[in-house]
Amino acid sequence: EKGQIRVQTENIFPIIKKFLYSEHDIFLRELISNAVDASQKITTLSSIGEAKGDLGELRIDVSIDKEAKTLTIEDRGVGMTQEEVDKYLNQVAFSGAEEFLQKYKDANIIGHFGLGFYSAFMVSDRVEVYTKSYQDQPATYWSCDGSPSFELGPTEKEGRGTRIVLHINQDSEEFLEADNIRRILEKFCKFLPVAIFFEDKQINNTQPIWIKKPSELTDEDYKNFYKELYPFGEPPLFWIHLNVDYPFNLTGVLYFPKIKQSYEIQKDKIQLYSNQVFVTDEVKDIVPEFLMLLHGVIDSPDIPLNVSRSYLQGDPNVRKINGYITKKVSDKLEEIFKNDRKSFEEKWESIGLFVKYGMMTEDKFLEKAGKYFIMQDSQETTKFYTLDEYKTETEATQKNKEGKTVILYTSDPVGQDAYIKAATGKGYKVIRFETIVDNAFVNNMEMKWSDVQFTRVDADIVDNLIDKAESNDSVLSEAEASNLKTLFSLEVPGLNVTVDVKGLSPDSAPVVATRPEFMRRMKDMGAMGGGM
Ligand code: ADP
Ligand code: MG
Repeated sequence: EKGQIRVQTENIFPIIKKFLYSEHDIFLRELISNAVDASQKITTLSSIGEAKGDLGELRIDVSIDKEAKTLTIEDRGVGMTQEEVDKYLNQVAFSGAEEFLQKYKDANIIGHFGLGFYSAFMVSDRVEVYTKSYQDQPATYWSCDGSPSFELGPTEKEGRGTRIVLHINQDSEEFLEADNIRRILEKFCKFLPVAIFFEDKQINNTQPIWIKKPSELTDEDYKNFYKELYPFGEPPLFWIHLNVDYPFNLTGVLYFPKIKQSYEIQKDKIQLYSNQVFVTDEVKDIVPEFLMLLHGVIDSPDIPLNVSRSYLQGDPNVRKINGYITKKVSDKLEEIFKNDRKSFEEKWESIGLFVKYGMMTEDKFLEKAGKYFIMQDSQETTKFYTLDEYKTETEATQKNKEGKTVILYTSDPVGQDAYIKAATGKGYKVIRFETIVDNAFVNNMEMKWSDVQFTRVDADIVDNLIDKAESNDSVLSEAEASNLKTLFSLEVPGLNVTVDVKGLSPDSAPVVATRPEFMRRMKDMGAMGGGM
């Protein structure tokens, strides 16, 4: 036997109301999105001659009446005939947006599921609709209290468009507070393409830069937009304009922020939009983790508006978008490095953090980053080496027994000064790895780069830093060295160090205490207890 599942509207209604959206604020986004869609539709219909005459000013007005306990949203869009109200509002999950999309292929339409309108009942006892279609027909009134029964009939209404009046319920009186409504509008509607007014002030910028062509924009435009997004932020270092329409749709601008104090890195500064409607600022699953340090906006109608985390993770578009963003960022870095290495080096303090983090966490990025990953010299701070340059310049001096290049580095140029002097005195090149990610970076890259060995400059006495199996002639007799060692060990009990008095350059310290690189790293990783 075959049949049709029947839905009991009395039961399904409360479920929709309660579980459709976890956040009640969303109802405003949904109703405004519908008003924007209605305005976009009339523009489309007018452009193809289906709607005649002057369209007038397309704007959306939001207002509250505290006494009457109503919130009203009014647009000058297509409006609906009585027949359309019956079709679109009385049929739950019938999307007029989807229907319009199929007919007119209008990519600017936001709606999809035919459920958004019902979110009004999350906050209302009763919803009233007054609407007049662009087609020459009488205005229509619809009213419903959230039960499956409704009222529908002709009414009086001046001009084309739709007015939706929400009678806010007792539990939702926060939506009668102007400050709250303004906050929600600014959050969700800040960049919608149709002007939205609340208390006579326009809320949104209808032409955000990410929808424009990069060729139409100046550096000033990008900087101003950054200021609009983060009014208190410092100017960004540079930016990337994303713009693809195949195999998925994605636009946006990502900014590299200036990072002075690596400790105040801010995550969650990227906002996700879908057709200019704010969706979320938790972009964890869309943007690769290391790029979450970036700021800016990405907009993709291919990322569905109402979806759960787990859905996003599995979404093939989301995965493709992730890969695309990684590639774009890498291309941009390579471009700056090639075209203006000086400026790239000057920004390395900020850029380096992303790059290193990316190299550690994304193998695809690691492959590309080799071209522009640079290391700063510890002595000559304006000198930077790519990995290849470092290998070439140290070819003769810094190969270990296995033929690997030994990268000598300092994690503390001041504290390790004596060691650095000793090493550079020997002709070695010591680089700076002093940021918070460097410790992890060194451990990680040693596993990934098979031809490199990292050694911290205080890991051993200078003659032993590069493991070349040379003989170490001591100036002391074995007994003298042993006595001295005992003496130092008594001075610093419990400190697991090697004491040596040879092999240092004349202008540096006469005695060195070192700790093997391996032991130190274990300690840094917290794998060994105290007492070291
Ligand atoms: P969706 O937007 O996903 O299609 P909604 O439940 O939000 O679903 O809305 C259902 C339909 O009701 C819309 O597709 C549209 O045809 C109609 N509608 C809703 N609000 C308006 C409005 N302000 N002006 C004109 N039509 C509207
Ligand atoms: Mg909708």
